[in-house]
Amino acid sequence: MPWLDRFLGLACPVCGGELDAPGVCLACREKLVPERAGDAVYLGRYRALKGLVRAAKYRRNRLALRWAASRLADRARAAGFAPEAVTFVPTFPWRALARGQYAPAELARGIASELGVPFRGLLVRRRYSPSQTRRKDRRRLPQVFAARGSAPPSVLLVDDVLTTGATFRRAAEALFAAGAERVCGAFLAVADPGRLLGLPYNRPRTGR
Ligand SMILES: [Zn+2]
Repeated sequence: MPWLDRFLGLACPVCGGELDAPGVCLACREKLVPERAGDAVYLGRYRALKGLVRAAKYRRNRLALRWAASRLADRARAAGFAPEAVTFVPTFPWRALARGQYAPAELARGIASELGVPFRGLLVRRRYSPSQTRRKDRRRLPQVFAARGSAPPSVLLVDDVLTTGATFRRAAEALFAAGAERVCGAFLAVADPGRLLGLPYNRPRTGR
């Protein structure tokens, strides 16, 4: 029963085939080569990696995450990203608790360990703040994230999936406000790599 094997983690979470290596099968390991767009790296398109994203999110597939983290770290190093810390886009704490493992945090922890730099929880997620919407400056997004203390000059910000990029943008802005000059990205999967080209990777020079 292939679906049962996949559910139990006995099958490859990417292709559903026989798991002949830890976490992800050998054929998928060969096929999945991380790419770079803008100042971000990603393992593949979301439509091809739905199974892997789900395995990471709900089934605590640490072996698959560890493999993905090592590939993304290699690609980030090759791209010349030299972060002083690796952090992740946080969820509300109760959600992470309910899942027992929070995929973006696990992925960030793995990448940090591969790169030999500190893993840090630099951001907290807070509720949507209505007062922000009354500001005249429409370019200012509602503050969804807040930084915990100050951020180092160069940060690698990790998330499992990037869809529109709005979440990354808000999280990066909170890091810029906390002192970061450069925020690069690393993702398991992206819906549309073109979105990575328009993200803010450097602290804006104006208005500060
Ligand atoms: Zn596979």
